[in-house]
Amino acid sequence: MSAHAPPSRLVLLGHPVAHSRSAVFQNAALEYAGFPQRYESLDVLPSELDRTLEALRAEGAGGNVTIPYKESVAARARCTTLAARVGAVNTFWHEQGVLCGENTDVAGISASIVALCPGGLGETRCAVMGAGGSAAAALVALHQLGCRDVVVAARTPERARRLSARVQVPVRIVATADEAVDQARLVINATPIGMLDDAMPVSPIALHTHAVVIDLVYRPEATAWVRSCRTSGHAAEDGSRILLEQGAAAFECWFGGSAPRHVMWQALGLSAGAGE
Ligand code: NAP
Repeated sequence: MSAHAPPSRLVLLGHPVAHSRSAVFQNAALEYAGFPQRYESLDVLPSELDRTLEALRAEGAGGNVTIPYKESVAARARCTTLAARVGAVNTFWHEQGVLCGENTDVAGISASIVALCPGGLGETRCAVMGAGGSAAAALVALHQLGCRDVVVAARTPERARRLSARVQVPVRIVATADEAVDQARLVINATPIGMLDDAMPVSPIALHTHAVVIDLVYRPEATAWVRSCRTSGHAAEDGSRILLEQGAAAFECWFGGSAPRHVMWQALGLSAGAGE
């Protein structure tokens, strides 16, 4: 069991939140586990964030945090060591009235890396595209998994420099995705490219023959980039596994024990190997 009382209710805090599929699989898991709480998306305007957090504190609520509030909540919460390192909170609860925050995106990304690279990372060169909140989680996940050769493609190099210093993961920063993926055996898209259309963060042609690919973006039929990489012979998965695993780890923060992952996968309309 977790050390704190289970949250009275569960919410996803963000703006916007309509695209999120978290409520679908969290409610299936809550029902399966026989818990009375329900999970709902809460679209909160930036001007309403503090008032909303205060109301959630009074209720002893818990939940997840998404764009654009992960850093703002980290600044207001008592963070775990991991959330403090990433500088972003995506999971919260209350302990004796104190807002507590964790980052389970790292666990989600790690699960995806392990699924695609079961032999470990060893001397593998990894490329990360993007330098935002999820890139921070990706860098920490790579570091925890023993990767010591990371290249980051960032259109704002200064942001990548700050990120690398904050998470204490040394990286080589390059300006273009083409440059980053050259010789990389694991390529991670941590930009929103491909979320709304079929744009790709880098052409599959630029990838190393043996590169495997993770797209943090998820879409119902996988992203165009993932589909195209698979057609070119690369093992590739979109962000569905990451979504599910960060949610399962959040469930375990709120309630302790093990999350019913098979129910969560089923609720998303996927099988556990669907990302591969
Ligand atoms: P973020 O903090 O806004 O960072 C986005 C990064 O992408 C920034 O470095 C930004 O560059 C860069 N970028 C944006 N558009 C670009 C473009 N057209 N070309 C090149 N670089 C571009 O966002 P985030 O929280 O890291 O999220 C990134 C994506 O991951 C989102 O689509 C999110 O939905 C997804 N995600 C999925 C999961 C999951 O569970 N599957 C979890 C977390 C995130 P600048 O610094 O120059 O602005």
